[in-house]
Amino acid sequence: MRLGILLATGALPPALALLAANALLAACAEVPVPSLTHTPLASDPFAAARDELVETGIIGYGIEDPAVIQAIRSVPRHRFVPAEYRDKAYGNHPLPIGYGQTISQPYIVALMTEALELEPGDRVLEIGTGSGYQTAVLLEMGMEVYSIEIVGPLADSAAAILEQPGYPNLHLKHADGYFGWEQAAPFDAIIVTAAPDHVPRPLLMQLKVGGILIIPVGPVGGFQELWSVRRTGEEVYENASLGGVRFVPLVREPGPE
Ligand code: SAH
Repeated sequence: MRLGILLATGALPPALALLAANALLAACAEVPVPSLTHTPLASDPFAAARDELVETGIIGYGIEDPAVIQAIRSVPRHRFVPAEYRDKAYGNHPLPIGYGQTISQPYIVALMTEALELEPGDRVLEIGTGSGYQTAVLLEMGMEVYSIEIVGPLADSAAAILEQPGYPNLHLKHADGYFGWEQAAPFDAIIVTAAPDHVPRPLLMQLKVGGILIIPVGPVGGFQELWSVRRTGEEVYENASLGGVRFVPLVREPGPE
């Protein structure tokens, strides 16, 4: 049944679709000169593994946007995972990053990023910075990124990793992303990489007309549906399902006792 949902997501050959389905089931979200900061050195010991991931797990799964493909090829995912998982950094699956959270599967990062339909220089709001990997992919594509993380130590470590090479277009905040980032709104696109059980109204309101919100919605601990929500008018939104996924829950800041 899940497979049915998943297979509906794209025109993959059956063998690949099955792989993609398994991968999905394991999924946990100025004018740009493509940044050269992350361009792998010839001596990068992970360059071959990263290329292999791009060929088989990104292009091979049906991702077509050249900017997304280039970003996945450039961002050193091994820097965003804990040291003990570094040798697994270019597998096409999520990995633990502590605090019960995960770095998303590369294919899901690519799928969600492609679905945002970004133009260079777009203002993007990300809810759930986590490791900072998805953030780096957006930054490499030349976006102005506003990213919010609710777990303090994760926000700190992502900031530290992203500090090197350093991105002038990055804005990080430690807060409950349910409320979005009112002061920086509106956004051309919004990506949510943790799953709420409904679409937060503040995020809908902070999207530009014409903009796209990509968000997994569904029950905690189960499977969710990945939605693309396009704001087509002040109060008009069009939804399209991108298939079944599994993300960690969007948690809420505890209210006053
Ligand atoms: N894109 C990240 C995904 C991390 S998992 C990556 O690839 O590393 C989802 C993240 O969302 C976790 O870090 C979790 O702490 C965070 N999160 C959960 N609820 C949140 C909320 N209400 N506001 C902001 N971040 C939240």
